[in-house]
Amino acid sequence: MHLRKRALVTGGAGFIGSFLCEQLLAAGHDVLCVDNFYTGTKDNIAHLLDNPHFELLRHDITFPLYVEVDEIYNLACPASPVHYHFDPVQTTKTSVHGAINMLGLCKRVKATILQASTSEVYGDPAVHPQPESYWGNVNPIGPRSCYDEGKRCAETLFFSYRQQHKLRIKVARIFNTYGPRMHINDGRVVSNFIVQALKNEPISLYGDGGQTRSFCYVDDMVQGLVSLMNTTDEFTGPVNLGNPTECTIGQLADKVIALSGSKSKLVHKPLPSDDPRQRRPDVALACRALGWEPATSLEQGLAKTIAYFEQVLRRGSRHGTTG
Ligand code: NAD
Ligand code: UDP
Ligand code: UDP
Repeated sequence: MHLRKRALVTGGAGFIGSFLCEQLLAAGHDVLCVDNFYTGTKDNIAHLLDNPHFELLRHDITFPLYVEVDEIYNLACPASPVHYHFDPVQTTKTSVHGAINMLGLCKRVKATILQASTSEVYGDPAVHPQPESYWGNVNPIGPRSCYDEGKRCAETLFFSYRQQHKLRIKVARIFNTYGPRMHINDGRVVSNFIVQALKNEPISLYGDGGQTRSFCYVDDMVQGLVSLMNTTDEFTGPVNLGNPTECTIGQLADKVIALSGSKSKLVHKPLPSDDPRQRRPDVALACRALGWEPATSLEQGLAKTIAYFEQVLRRGSRHGTTG
């Protein structure tokens, strides 16, 4: 018999969260989307508002929340460096106070809770690729620390609540994820490069472009998060979720230019401080424990993302604005 579960998705109006809400509804669950629209937008979930199994609540998770649910996916947190810098205190509060509130809620209703942690817990990694056992290399007072240390503290809180209150927890360490519905001004590399390429404007390459990342398409990420939630109570993670195909940022720029048929040229800009030099997930644990691995190649995912931004720009220019 299919059991309809009540899932809470914090940050559900954001990029990854909105796809997760869709996926959970498609699987036959009730979804409560909680978001304060800091970086997310109603447009991401407008198509779900007519579904009687979907509810939207405007709420900031740094404040207590009393609802009845079976599963909590805690995704609320600005994720792009531009956005988390903008209000660093609120960023850390969202990770830390937000985690405490969601864990308190989980404890009261005896739910299962999943934390959207990040590869940023590894900082500028001295071990490559990064396995879950690596403790990281994080600057506690640098420009990224409001995000990195907030997320690290949230992981600590998850494991402390498990130890002290026997909560069912799951911690996913998400590596760079991209796809449609990324915020057009979000500042992350994939959306920046695609928007610049589509406008035939210079592509802003920070540093020499030799730094690496490994990009995961959003559909694969959502599958990974749902698979993690469905593991047995003993399995907590942390588990890396990401695509292990690594490329330099320079190579990414070339691919975006080629796939979008752009006339854009590269322009070098200063590398932000503490920008990790290399990043690639070791996904052996995800493979073994979740039977999960990403299925979408960078070319396939970029093509879908380019098609999305083409539409957004076309709509924007009709309304006299392009973002
Ligand atoms: P996003 O900015 O699109 O989504 C975050 C959502 O959280 C937004 O809708 C925002 O309005 C909401 N939010 C922020 N603060 C809130 C608060 N205090 N209360 C309620 N809602 C709040 O970013 P995303 O890329 O979809 O990221 C989702 C989660 O995944 C984040 O926790 C992020 O740290 C994590 N993550 C993402 C990536 C990535 O590459 N996309 C990588 C690592 C980790
Ligand atoms: N909390 C919440 N919703 C709930 C239960 C708790 O938001 O349904 C918040 C509550 O405000 C508290 C936090 O979660 O500050 C942590 O809860 P916990 O029970 O661990 O702490 P306590 O209430 O004992 O301080
Ligand atoms: N980057 C870039 N141009 C941009 C935006 C980002 O060259 O317009 C670089 C950035 O310096 C970093 C990489 O791309 O090395 C990924 O940046 P992003 O902000 O997307 O994610 P994160 O650094 O958090 O992995």
